[in-house]
Amino acid sequence: MSRTLFVTTALPYANGSFHIGHIMEYIQADIWVRAMRMAGHTVHFVGADDTHGAPIMLKAEAEGVTPKQLVERIGAERPQYLKGFQIEFDHWHSTDSAENVELSQDIYRKLRAAGLINTREIEQFYDPVKGMFLADRYIKGECPKCHAKDQYGDSCEVCGAVYAPTDLIEPYSTLTKARPLLKTSEHYFFQLSDPRCIEFLQTWTTGSNAQGNKHLQAEVLAKTREWLGNGDEKANLGDWDISRDAPYFGIEIPDAPGKYFYVWLDAPVGYLASLKSYCAKIGLDFEALLDPNGTTEQVHFIGKDIVYFHALFWPATLQFSGRKTPDQLNVHGFITVSGEKMSKSRGTGISPLRYLALGMNAEWMRYYIAAKLNARVEDIDFNPDDFIARVNSDLVGKYVNIASRAANFISKYFDGQLAYPDDAAMLGSNWAQAADRIRADLEAREYGRAIREIMAHADQINQAFDAAQPWLIAKTLASAEPSQRDALQHICSSALAGFKALSVMLAPILPALSQRVATELFGQASSFVWTDAGVLPSQINPFKHLMQRVEPTMLDELFEIPAQDAAPKQGSSAKKSAAATQTTATKPQHQQATNAQTADSNLAEVAAAAPGGEPLAPAITIDDFVKIDLRVARIVNCEPVEGSTKLLRLTLDVGEGRLRNVFSGIQSAYTPEQLIGRLTVVVANLAPRKMKFGISEGMVLAASHFDAKIDAGIYVLDPSSGAQPGMRIH
Ligand SMILES: [Zn+2]
Repeated sequence: MSRTLFVTTALPYANGSFHIGHIMEYIQADIWVRAMRMAGHTVHFVGADDTHGAPIMLKAEAEGVTPKQLVERIGAERPQYLKGFQIEFDHWHSTDSAENVELSQDIYRKLRAAGLINTREIEQFYDPVKGMFLADRYIKGECPKCHAKDQYGDSCEVCGAVYAPTDLIEPYSTLTKARPLLKTSEHYFFQLSDPRCIEFLQTWTTGSNAQGNKHLQAEVLAKTREWLGNGDEKANLGDWDISRDAPYFGIEIPDAPGKYFYVWLDAPVGYLASLKSYCAKIGLDFEALLDPNGTTEQVHFIGKDIVYFHALFWPATLQFSGRKTPDQLNVHGFITVSGEKMSKSRGTGISPLRYLALGMNAEWMRYYIAAKLNARVEDIDFNPDDFIARVNSDLVGKYVNIASRAANFISKYFDGQLAYPDDAAMLGSNWAQAADRIRADLEAREYGRAIREIMAHADQINQAFDAAQPWLIAKTLASAEPSQRDALQHICSSALAGFKALSVMLAPILPALSQRVATELFGQASSFVWTDAGVLPSQINPFKHLMQRVEPTMLDELFEIPAQDAAPKQGSSAKKSAAATQTTATKPQHQQATNAQTADSNLAEVAAAAPGGEPLAPAITIDDFVKIDLRVARIVNCEPVEGSTKLLRLTLDVGEGRLRNVFSGIQSAYTPEQLIGRLTVVVANLAPRKMKFGISEGMVLAASHFDAKIDAGIYVLDPSSGAQPGMRIH
């Protein structure tokens, strides 16, 4: 049965750029949304910037812009991140919008009519110079317990004591250094402690949606028990202060001059505001879509730090304003980088934009994050070595490798036509069942388990392929029996049917790659849906290179020290300084160690003078350069050279209507399977050279470090996809 879902991610605060924690959450939600859509469900997936509050007001003031200008600037940054990581929200909106003003005020009025709003006098620190009340984070002073200086208003970082800001000795405003005054003001409260709220939350927190899915994960439910009490225990809920005094950047409270909604009242309402704005855009009836008695499922993806707001306040404010309540809260943990905790104030270890600017593939990150995620509230760690291993060994080495190995035989000997042994129906139904298990895992957000199962299938496909040794059959095909020829076609076809099924299973995680597999390799008109997994393909188009491996040097660059932290060095590239502005001071342990070593021996200075281990060659003119004719070549075959531990024999198509034989000293870095089908660059007008093993008609370009003792690897050049054999490199 087709379902209708309204899916959101937590609204990011618009005082700064996205960090890797945001990207992780959006990837988690995006994978889920894609998996649901592939099953035929209708999903409305929206996000928005959370724009209100004192921090944004003060940041704007410090920058000499209005808060609206600040949040518009931050909002304009968002698409490059979302597009870059293939995160496809249907709509991105802002809490600083007409829809949000209207909805927040409407919800407030209904809560007031239900008798759940009251007011109280609150005594609070006030900055007489700035003319505003101070949140705890803007007050510092001496710890009343250990007498450490300059401690924040809520707790001491030295001795760990927790206290009220009024307990501080010699308190001062961090905004003006002025001594704050105690001043009273009337605040508005949502009465979460009202028995009606407690009763509703006791039911809602333990409830399930129409699909039988629990509203809350087990550990989130356990947390809410601490706040709500267990049966006879008394609930431990305070009323919720929902007002702030002017000056404030936010939404005015109706009938309360000078009072604004505290950001936590208007922020979650931003989910609804974004959906409402989207509904207006595409002509949907917003109120009907979120009818409290309707069938739309409302699903929120959030981090564990905002459970209190989403599991208590949010459902209660919706319930008592007569609106639809959430059906599922999907809570995830934090992401650490090499074991270091991410923190908004200390910054983050990986800059998402720097990742993209380095040319790192977004789908590597999507795959890696998916491989680490499960349905529990657990932190995950980004570990550079683990990242390289999972992408290179599993994703490229196991999965992509299946297609690159099998497709070339089919194209070369069978004109792209696939054929299966007699028990093929079984093969299709097995893949359909396997895909259905993966679909269920993804719906349950058990992404890591899904990926383990997918890689186990990839292992089986590769093992079956290896055991059948199709390359031996291919070698003697001209003189082979017809049954041998059929066997070769069956082996490769079965492997490709498996590759197609795995591509369907990975489609929510690798949307761009799976789209290319669907349309380019298998010639489908549209991208994959779940039922495609069990349909055996009948033909393929020639294989095109699908995915690069991660180069370890990319990870080093990703974690490079920002330029402002490092001593200025001659010759540091423009790319580095540009990227450095995107990054932050935190870096993983392994990199800190490396940097310490390089600083000691001044190796960095040497590297700057001699990039790649050798000084630049003397300058040449453009006339010198054009003498070298570089062409795109396709590696149509590759094999080891008997008697050589260094060379591989490459058969290249340079678009000349004949094939070239080229020897290349890259055996230490590549197996023939990794190269067959790939495009590369060849020096096409190099005079043929007679070598011990035959004549070499050109030279394949590859990068390596000058000093062979520094084993930095050998890297064959790859043109971007779309290049054709024979194209000249200018
Ligand atoms: Zn202390």
